[in-house]
Amino acid sequence: MQFVDLHTHSTASDGTKSPAELVRLAHAAGLAAVAVTDHDTLAGLAEAEEAGHALGIEVVRGCELALLTPQGEIHMLALWLPQHADALERAMLALRAKRTERNVGIVHKLQGLGLAINYDEVLAHAGAASVGRPHIAAIMLAKGYVPSINAAFKHYLAYGCPAYLPKEVLNVAQGLRLLRSLGASPVLAHPCLSLPAEPLRALVAELVPQGLLGLEAYHSEHNAADTRFVVGLAQQYGLALSGGSDFHGDTKPGIALGRGHGGLRVPLHVLEKLKAQRLALGLPSAAFA
Ligand code: AMP
Ligand code: ZN
Ligand code: FE
Ligand code: FE
Repeated sequence: MQFVDLHTHSTASDGTKSPAELVRLAHAAGLAAVAVTDHDTLAGLAEAEEAGHALGIEVVRGCELALLTPQGEIHMLALWLPQHADALERAMLALRAKRTERNVGIVHKLQGLGLAINYDEVLAHAGAASVGRPHIAAIMLAKGYVPSINAAFKHYLAYGCPAYLPKEVLNVAQGLRLLRSLGASPVLAHPCLSLPAEPLRALVAELVPQGLLGLEAYHSEHNAADTRFVVGLAQQYGLALSGGSDFHGDTKPGIALGRGHGGLRVPLHVLEKLKAQRLALGLPSAAFA
């Protein structure tokens, strides 16, 4: 049986493997396909596709967007983005500018808490198009202020913590409209990490008429009950399933490509069903020439 991984991050956002390394690792892990889904950027996709061509592994062009819903913030994966996605690029450029303001604010808060960190160090470390809290956490770790990235989030950076600042995001209706106008498949990422069961069901009911096409049932942080619940929701609302590890390299050391914490397996037929759904909608799912 062949397997895929439809949720991964590279150095284009807050992962630690370059897009080409990520694709090489996916190939070495024996995966049939990998989707590259960096936060708020498409900067890694060309390199990933080139590596995919060279190695003979399918690369799905994707990204991950945070979106605001009436039930709170959720994450949306976009799969099969076209080569030219100018409207999305423009929206992401604005989001990355807002991220910079936020990141600078977070660093100020950390300074106020007595940590000797400046934003240039974060930028020098990130060297990336889309900078986020994991890059700040990495500097906190390197300077010995925290014992792990996880501790940096738990004590400083997570919601409710002293250095937390909210992130500006698109609203979900805008986001879905934009992704569908580009011919991408919007897939709700790790649904059970974002919402409890009943608000989640209500959200899915609202998002289906707005263009949602899939639910990420298989994810490193979903347990068996979460997966079962999401599979049931997808059946109820006629949505496709997706699955991925949310690989970030060393930012999330316990998560392996295609394997998550060890037990995750996303069979190739999950990808094939997503493609069949696209075919039925008249959308292409081969690489865009
Ligand atoms: P940002 O987009 O700047 O808000 O950062 C969000 C990123 O931080 C996502 O990729 C999350 O996976 C990551 N993240 C959130 N909590 C943790 C944690 N406890 N340890 C490592 N990464 C985390
Ligand atoms: Zn991330
Ligand atoms: Fe996410
Ligand atoms: Fe992710």
